[in-house]
Amino acid sequence: MPQYAFFKSQIVPIEDAKISIMAHGFNYGTGCFEGIRAYWNSIEEQLYVFKLLEHYERFLNSSRILLMDLPFTAQRLAEITVELIRREGYREDTYIRPVAYKADEVIGVRLHGLRDEVAIFAMPFGRYIETDSAHAGVSSWRRIDDNSVPARAKITGAYINSAFAKTEAVLNGYDEAIVLTQDGHVSEGSAENIFIVRDGVLITPPITDNILEGITRKVMIELAREELSLPVMERPIDRTELYVADEALLCGTGVQVVAITHIDHRPVGTGMIGPIVKALRDLYFDVVRGKARKYLGWCTPVYVNVPELAVA
Ligand code: PMP
Repeated sequence: MPQYAFFKSQIVPIEDAKISIMAHGFNYGTGCFEGIRAYWNSIEEQLYVFKLLEHYERFLNSSRILLMDLPFTAQRLAEITVELIRREGYREDTYIRPVAYKADEVIGVRLHGLRDEVAIFAMPFGRYIETDSAHAGVSSWRRIDDNSVPARAKITGAYINSAFAKTEAVLNGYDEAIVLTQDGHVSEGSAENIFIVRDGVLITPPITDNILEGITRKVMIELAREELSLPVMERPIDRTELYVADEALLCGTGVQVVAITHIDHRPVGTGMIGPIVKALRDLYFDVVRGKARKYLGWCTPVYVNVPELAVA
C-alpha cells in the first residue's frame, strides 16, 4: 500500500486522500487517468520512470477532451510524480496512477462548469497478465466509438467497455479479449494495443480505429524500425487476418509485451512465441530498465539530487 498521495495540490498521507460519494467523477465517470510504470535497475540502484512526460502529455490531452483546464504542465506533473515516488522510497517496480476528475458534489450529467481535481498515487506492481503468452478471444463486445465515447482519451467511465470485454474473455477461459470496431475491424485488447506479423511486416490498426494512442505501441513501432529494420504498417486489420498471422502481440504499460499464441482456439503461427515478438519483447525490457543506453532518454531517474527529467 502507498503511504502518500498527491491530492488537492499537495502530497498528503494516503489516508487523507479521500473523495465524497457525491463526487461527480465517481457518479458519472467524468474523469481521465494514466497508467505509468517505473522500473527498478538493481545494478544502478535506480528507479527509472518510463516515458513520463509522454504519459502526462496524453493525460492533458484527455483532460482537454473532457473540457478540463488543469493548472499543471506535463513537466510539473512529472516533477510531482518523481517527488511522490521519492517520498515512498520504492526500490522495486512501481505503477503510477494519475487521475483527474470532476470533483463537485452535485447531481447532473455534464462536463461544463465543474471543478476539476488531480490526484496521483504510486504502488509496487509486478505483472498484469500472469503469463508471457496469451490465448486471446475475439470479444462479442464492440469497441467504443470516437463519436460516442472517444477511445483516444483515457476516460475513466469508458473503461466499462474494457471491463465487459475482459470479464467475458476470462470467464470464457481466455487470457485476454480482442475487441473489434463497430464496422468489424480489429481495434485492440481490453487495455492493450495489438500488433500482428505477416510475411515479415509488423501491422497494427491505425489510430482512427478507436484505439487508445498507446505509448508502448509507439515504442514498438520505433524499436521495430530502428533496431530490427522491420517494415511497419498502420492499417485496418480484418478479424480473419488474426487467424492467418505468423505472430501477434499485445502491448501496453500494464501488460508490457505479451505474445498472443492462440486466438479463438487457433494457434498463431507455430502456437509459440515467434522470433519477431521475442526480439521486440527482449528489446523492450532492456529499454524500460535503462539497460539500452541509446534509449536512456526515455527513462526518468527518480533517485538523483536535482530533478533531471527526460525530454521527449
Ligand atoms: N489501449 C487501452 C484501452 C489501454 O487502456 C492501454 C493502457 N493504457 C493501452 C491501449 C496501451 O497504452 P500504453 O502503451 O500507453 O500504456
